[in-house]
Amino acid sequence: MIRNILIRTVLPIRKKRTEFLSKFHFSIGYRIGLHYFKLLLLYGILFFAVLLIAYCTINYQTKQQLGQELVSKLQSGQIVLKKNEIKEQSRQLLHTYENQGISIQVKDRSTNQVIYHNIVDSVEEDKEWINCFSYHYKNNKKVIFKDFLTYTREESQYEVYLQYDITKDFQVFQSYFMVAIVCYLFFILLIVKHGKRGILRLLKPIEIMSESANRLTVNNLGSQRLNVEGTKNELKDLAGTINQMLDRIELSYESQKQFVSDASHELRTPIAVIQGYINMLDRWGSKDEEILEESIAAIKNEAVSMQDLVEKLLFLSRHDKKTLKLKKITFNMKLVVEEMIKETKLVTKDRKIVCPKLQDIMVYGDKQALKQAIRIFIDNAIKYSNTGDEIRISCENKKGHCVVTVEDTGIGMKREDMDNIFERFYRSDEVRNHKINGHGLGLSIAKLIVLKHVGSIRVRSQYEKGSSFKITLPNYPHIH
Ligand code: ADP
Repeated sequence: MIRNILIRTVLPIRKKRTEFLSKFHFSIGYRIGLHYFKLLLLYGILFFAVLLIAYCTINYQTKQQLGQELVSKLQSGQIVLKKNEIKEQSRQLLHTYENQGISIQVKDRSTNQVIYHNIVDSVEEDKEWINCFSYHYKNNKKVIFKDFLTYTREESQYEVYLQYDITKDFQVFQSYFMVAIVCYLFFILLIVKHGKRGILRLLKPIEIMSESANRLTVNNLGSQRLNVEGTKNELKDLAGTINQMLDRIELSYESQKQFVSDASHELRTPIAVIQGYINMLDRWGSKDEEILEESIAAIKNEAVSMQDLVEKLLFLSRHDKKTLKLKKITFNMKLVVEEMIKETKLVTKDRKIVCPKLQDIMVYGDKQALKQAIRIFIDNAIKYSNTGDEIRISCENKKGHCVVTVEDTGIGMKREDMDNIFERFYRSDEVRNHKINGHGLGLSIAKLIVLKHVGSIRVRSQYEKGSSFKITLPNYPHIH
């Protein structure tokens, strides 16, 4: 219930407070300062309250000791109290206690008669008053503790009411207390003033970071970084993390720039070839039939190459924009591979196409995309092999996982090429020198498709001996 009441009252107040404060702009330095100011004030009040209680208790205890001493003197007969005839010596002794702020009233229990009384305030027969000490702060600003003791003398029992007046000590304490509070407040103000400077120094990196961030543009992304010199602290760590983020952004921006430049470069070549043939046709083409035929064939060829390039670029851009959608279904990979082998055999007569193993294996994935990926490996095997070379295509069921292998006995690759073949636009010097057609995008697309199916590709190659690409598509039953 209390929780409910708190939720209903405290939460709306907090919400209103946050709403109200959100209208103002408070610097972090100001907030930290305010927080410490509140803490200093709170703990200061607590400290002074404890000091006050401790002071009163110590005073009371000292007075109480004197009171007990007085009672023991009464008990032992050092001070003799008899109605109307108190000896001068005893009276003087009592006065010394009175001077120390102790008032006394003694009552004989048997006769219920007050035999000595010098208490200013009347002693009320209050049960709460008896056998305890009490503190009261009267209208006349007196601070008095009360006590009750008994003693026996000559077979009669006496009740002793004591009042310890600590008003004077309290007044002295009060004056010191006020000075201490004023000093403390002054001390807080000093701390806040000097602390503010320290906080501003501490938060200086934020200002520098904000200035540096303001200066950042795409043109100086490579040279501008946040300053991380000096002592290590959370802000420096933050600056370091932002710098690492900027490094990643720069890398991605550079690779985007590189991609655009490579793509334009790849498009420029076929356009230049087409332009060259058009110029040739313009000059002599209409008259020379041979030139006409050659030009038409070349232009057709370049147009096909350009279309292929544009389609690959569109695929990559769809992937980068995360708009590439896969339509996953369950299908038998063996049938797909068989179909592709048939197509390849139809168009490639000068290579030996062998299929050592073709096993049924159900795969959950985008049939068209996976077909596109395997087509890239088969096309490469044909492209990078010579007439009469062998191309082995197999589809295996390995413990429920689908493994498609495309091997060739072609030109193979060097170690350094193998590390880069999946990079966009990468082509080995070997294939560039031999003027083998291609844009260097096929394998990067194939890799993206396989990765989208949580698969993996293993490459093996020996220079001038041949290459092998093994694509594994894992069978995850939970996906079905
Ligand atoms: P492209 O074939 O259009 O150049 P790819 O991304 O398909 O682009 O291939 C990248 C590079 O990898 C090729 O240029 C070639 O150097 C190398 N490569 C790929 N497949 C083979 C292979 N079967 N044999 C030898 N080299 C290959």
